[in-house]
Amino acid sequence: MKCCKAGGCCCCCPNFPGRIFAWLIAFFIWYQIFIGVHIGLVSNLGLIFHAVIIIFWNACFLLTISSLFSAALTEPAEIDSKYKVPDEFLESSASNRTISFHRQLSKYANEHPELSFQLLDVGDFKYPRYCVHCQIFKPPRTHHCRTCEKCIPRMDHHCPVIGYFVYKQEVTTCVHFHNHKFFLLFLFWASILCLMGVTFISPQVVYLINTSGEPKYGSLTEVIPAMIVTSGLTNAIVCGLALFCFQMYLWWMLKNNETTLESHEDDDDEKPDYDLGKACLNIKSIFGKRKLLWFLPIPTTVGNGFTFVQKLRTENNIEE
Ligand SMILES: [Zn+2]
Ligand SMILES: [Zn+2]
Repeated sequence: MKCCKAGGCCCCCPNFPGRIFAWLIAFFIWYQIFIGVHIGLVSNLGLIFHAVIIIFWNACFLLTISSLFSAALTEPAEIDSKYKVPDEFLESSASNRTISFHRQLSKYANEHPELSFQLLDVGDFKYPRYCVHCQIFKPPRTHHCRTCEKCIPRMDHHCPVIGYFVYKQEVTTCVHFHNHKFFLLFLFWASILCLMGVTFISPQVVYLINTSGEPKYGSLTEVIPAMIVTSGLTNAIVCGLALFCFQMYLWWMLKNNETTLESHEDDDDEKPDYDLGKACLNIKSIFGKRKLLWFLPIPTTVGNGFTFVQKLRTENNIEE
């Protein structure tokens, strides 16, 4: 099992103690919510309903964890070799920032319209976006991630969290074309867990508040469950609100077929628009056509992440 760039097993990773600590904290938070739900259910509902809720809770927990791992372990696609800047361009130019180099790129783009380059306007001519680090032409929606140190197809944003919980490392944890679905599912199922926590723990907290001052079983047997349900409810509310707000923003972006990075770009007439016209079509572009599989962390995204249907903001017709 390899981890860092230096190679070796996960235990050799310099961040290994930190990862273990993060895992323990995460499990502690979720375990507290789980126990809080459990204790809340014991005194309020029948045994069968209790069992159904606990089974549903564990199913949601499994979906959350598997979505997280799927997001972290799905590598961004390697940029196709046809996007590599020809060696003779690089050799003939002492600095790849010179005008002559950009003119060479412009000429190359005109000769290869099939690559659908996104062109940058420098006044008297246009040249295709290219990455000075990877020395490739950037396919549409591709961005260079400085943390991952490579170009990422349809990069949404770099997320240091999702990679922190797996044996690999932070440098492969961008949210990109092929793991965007898994990342959204992780946020979705985690927020469902929080919602369940708030729903089932709240009545118990209210019950504890109403019965305070009426000890029945001795102080210790009452204080410990009270502490667990109260901290479980706090965790569920705080985590749930954070997850809900963050994912609402990402769902809104996806509804418009826009990435987080694209939403921060200047909104001019030259900015490509990838909106397919309907929210359902935009969601299908990442989640696939079979709606039954939308909620499961299995790969259903169709495409290579290099070519997209787009329209210019100045035109009404969708064009390739
Ligand atoms: Zn790059
Ligand atoms: Zn990254």
